[in-house]
Amino acid sequence: MARPAACLFDLDGLLLDTEPLHGQAWQQATRHFGMELASHHLLALRGRRRLDCAEQVRQWLAEAERQVPSTDELLAVRQPIAERLLPSARPIPGAPELLARCLELGIAVALVTSSSKAAVGLKAAPHPWLAGIHERVYGDDPELAAGKPAPDPFRLAAARLSVPPPRCWAFEDSLAGAHSARAAGCQVHVLLPEEADLAERLVAQLPKGCRLVRELTEVNLSTDD
Ligand SMILES: [Mg+2]
Repeated sequence: MARPAACLFDLDGLLLDTEPLHGQAWQQATRHFGMELASHHLLALRGRRRLDCAEQVRQWLAEAERQVPSTDELLAVRQPIAERLLPSARPIPGAPELLARCLELGIAVALVTSSSKAAVGLKAAPHPWLAGIHERVYGDDPELAAGKPAPDPFRLAAARLSVPPPRCWAFEDSLAGAHSARAAGCQVHVLLPEEADLAERLVAQLPKGCRLVRELTEVNLSTDD
């Protein structure tokens, strides 16, 4: 894998350890409507936009023959829980160092996140090291036709950096994100979850050609092989 011309970073679960908190918020909201989410449900929600997740949860509630709230009703329960939890998220180990190394090597960087601009503001506020990423594709970006797992977010980020997707390394932790980046034509690095059962389930559903990463500290940007 040649040295990247650009690195495209997912946010949740890749740079910030927010996924357990997002999961907790969906779990509590879904429980409010009488259903308990299993770990495979939570894995399927990772990396997707809030409205896409809400639609998915409503579908599961319908399949479980529970009361199905409107999207607004569901989010009215979920959002306050998420907003309380998310500012406490910590950096993923090695993330600040990996970003700093990109900037040091002059590699272009972008954030490619399903989170809305407002949600990123909330989550990123305690993390000044994220300010080094100027180019950002948010889930509610006006130029975005479809969210992850569609290829649009990574395509848009690569276009804004004027780097062809095959010269971009995408860093993802979710199925939706890995499929999105791969379909866009990027070189994809997937950070595996610590939990062995989740990692196994994730790997089984990844697109072909992803490079698996156990820790961000393993990533070597200087390779010229
Ligand atoms: Mg993610």
